[in-house]
Amino acid sequence: MAWKVKIDQDVCIGDAICASLCPDVFEMGDEGKAQPIVEVIEDEALYNCAVEAAEACPVSCITVEEA
Ligand code: SF4
Repeated sequence: MAWKVKIDQDVCIGDAICASLCPDVFEMGDEGKAQPIVEVIEDEALYNCAVEAAEACPVSCITVEEA
């Protein structure tokens, strides 16, 4: 299985919740918006933390879907 991670940076408010919950998948970019470190995840543990971050994102701008 593989999953694709996307972030809508127009919506991201830069609170870094995703990067602190799941630092192997999300990082904060120079403009204070989150960005994916990896766009395609193949590891189930990373998938689980990416989904946790997506659910915790206060503006729901993270999507994790099957690649
Ligand atoms: S949790 Fe959502 S709003 Fe916060 S930095 Fe990550 S993507 Fe942006």
